[in-house]
Amino acid sequence: MAIKVLKEKCKGCTKCVKNCPFSAITMENKIAVIGASCTGCGVCVKECPFEAIEKVEEEKEAVDLSAYKGVWVFAEQRQGEIMQVAIELLGEGKKLAKEVGTELCAVLCGNNISGLADKLFAYGADKVYVADNPELENYRTDAYTKVIFEAISIYKPEIVLLGATHIGRDLGPCLAVKCNTGLTADCTKLEIDPEDKKIKQTRPAFGGNLMATIICPNNRPQMSTVRPGVMDKAIYTEGRKGELIKLDVEFKKGDIRTKVLEIVKKAGEMVSLTDAEIIVSGGMGIGKQEGFELLKQLADTLGGTIASTRACVDAGWIDHSYQVGQTGTTVKPKIYFACGISGAIQHLSGMQNSDYIVAINKNENAPIFEVADYGIVGDLYEVIPVILEELKK
Ligand SMILES: Cc1cc2nc3c(=O)[nH]c(=O)nc-3n(C[C@H](O)[C@H](O)[C@H](O)COP(=O)(O)OP(=O)(O)OC[C@H]3O[C@@H](n4cnc5c(N)ncnc54)[C@H](O)[C@@H]3O)c2cc1C
Ligand code: SF4
Ligand code: SF4
Repeated sequence: MAIKVLKEKCKGCTKCVKNCPFSAITMENKIAVIGASCTGCGVCVKECPFEAIEKVEEEKEAVDLSAYKGVWVFAEQRQGEIMQVAIELLGEGKKLAKEVGTELCAVLCGNNISGLADKLFAYGADKVYVADNPELENYRTDAYTKVIFEAISIYKPEIVLLGATHIGRDLGPCLAVKCNTGLTADCTKLEIDPEDKKIKQTRPAFGGNLMATIICPNNRPQMSTVRPGVMDKAIYTEGRKGELIKLDVEFKKGDIRTKVLEIVKKAGEMVSLTDAEIIVSGGMGIGKQEGFELLKQLADTLGGTIASTRACVDAGWIDHSYQVGQTGTTVKPKIYFACGISGAIQHLSGMQNSDYIVAINKNENAPIFEVADYGIVGDLYEVIPVILEELKK
């Protein structure tokens, strides 16, 4: 859908300019002109007192799919640190690129971050597109969308992957709308169809009760946000080289409407469950908030961190940042201790890919034992002290 001004009817009253929620209309020679930031919302059509604006159906042009090449990974960085999810995406992107028979590229935005490109090459990127500009210091929707959209328009990748972090979930849809293409959010599995080389994007739907596999047959790039902690990290090869491509970054007045006043790091954000190698997680079976102290003792002894189920978060025993599961964090540690956790599907979806799962539960029929590598039937308040005793020896 496009928006068109009927010049002969426009009286230049500027009512549409004032009412456009996206500041997309300007006046030229007393006639309204619709700019590139128009989203087609239709507000101006109703607002114009002279019926001088109308919505017109655009003829759909078939996209030349063959013009799009390469798998792109959005290399999300914060304060000069590449996020773990970007390394997971490079690992997954490499597999996809190999199956399609194309190259793996990373897109890096920030300020004074060109040095990070070497790390991305070492993690498998063949090319790194870098947008280095003071305006890109902190993530801002409009700035990052503009730069990456322009790069996509020029270099035409066929697949674009972003981490389903707060930033990726914000940026992905903005890019997809700009590119007029499809986006599958929060994917947990990506694979290439061997027949047509298109990407099959699978994500949990309906509270995790259904896995939906989604394709984007006629538009490019095919875009996905991918859940952090699900894919295997890329392998680091010291000294591996690639091609660095600098992106032209130019912002005009009005391009960036957001201003970052302050970035506040909540204590909760310091919890890095996705990086933890050992997680001692507690469920309602701990019976009370203080139960986490016992779990913390075990976690500290093993050099790990504690986590929990949603039920404990809902009970107000622990902060949401510790929650593992479908509506919490997905984790993949070396060892996951599930203590007093029943093993609901919504919890399992966030931890079942852990290397080893050790379950401690009073009820031998608890579903958690179906995914556990080692199961101990017993009261966690009796079992954990025994484990601690043994570890001390
Ligand atoms: C849309 C939706 C999203 C959800 N998202 C999540 C999510 O992200 N993460 C999540 O965890 N849940 C999520 N849930 C909730 C989920 O369905 C379960 O309700 C929750 O995981 C149960 O938590 P639990 O295992 O701690 O508690 P319970 O199911 O109450 O299990 C407690 C377990 O502890 C055992 N136990 C009791 N006392 C002891 C003891 N002394 N020693 C040893 N074992 C003992 C019991 O036998 C039982 O198996 C979601 C639900 C919905 C509907
Ligand atoms: S509201 Fe209508 S008449 Fe007024 S400037 Fe806009 S298009 Fe022209
Ligand atoms: S359709 Fe919406 S965004 Fe586009 S010019 Fe009209 S009011 Fe603005």
